[in-house]
Amino acid sequence: MRHVRDPKSKSVMLRLVTLVQLLSSVASLQWMAAPPHGMPRTSCIVCEEPHSRILEYPHPLLRAENEDVTEFDDDLKRLTKEMFAIMYASRGVGLAAPQLGINKRLMVFNPEGDPKRWVSEVVLCNPRIEQFSSATTLEEEGCLSFPGFTADVVRSENIKVVWQGLNGKTKRKKLRGWEARVFQHEFDHLDGTLYVDRLKEDERSRIQPDLDALIKAYEAAPVAGPAAR
Ligand code: ZN
Repeated sequence: MRHVRDPKSKSVMLRLVTLVQLLSSVASLQWMAAPPHGMPRTSCIVCEEPHSRILEYPHPLLRAENEDVTEFDDDLKRLTKEMFAIMYASRGVGLAAPQLGINKRLMVFNPEGDPKRWVSEVVLCNPRIEQFSSATTLEEEGCLSFPGFTADVVRSENIKVVWQGLNGKTKRKKLRGWEARVFQHEFDHLDGTLYVDRLKEDERSRIQPDLDALIKAYEAAPVAGPAAR
């Protein structure tokens, strides 16, 4: 674990990093990719497609264009509930719909990463960043679509954001620190930008072998996203 800015970040990052690393090896989580014999494959409670699996780099749906959310109905509520469930099961602090192969401008996060702290849960439809602070921070990030490693990314320390909530109502907020970082990471997914795109050259070179391994794994066993079925 490298430098992190404050104890809260440290605790969340430790949990994120440790458990992302465990994700591929913990048997109880493996059913998300391939259910044990006799257990039904998990499927989305909305469309019943088996997309309750986080797509990994270099899946093309992570780079695809994402459409605005236009229907603020019960299906959207169910989908975001499912997104939080998948996020917590993966020990994440944020998840964007394209990571599930759902190419919508929709993301969820809980900067605490703790389902017991559900009051910190935020659902963001069609989010935008209205203002970035010139002050930046360099911190370690991990991404559920890049299992097994982390890298240091520069982000604006504070941002002003606007989004629509589950009922379609517009909300505005100024986010700081860790919360601003999680938002920026997830927001990038909605533009098809991945955190490895933002790395400085030396950091990118350091993790290149990990990226190559993911590319090799994908080429050996391509995963069809729901949109490709
Ligand atoms: Zn990510």
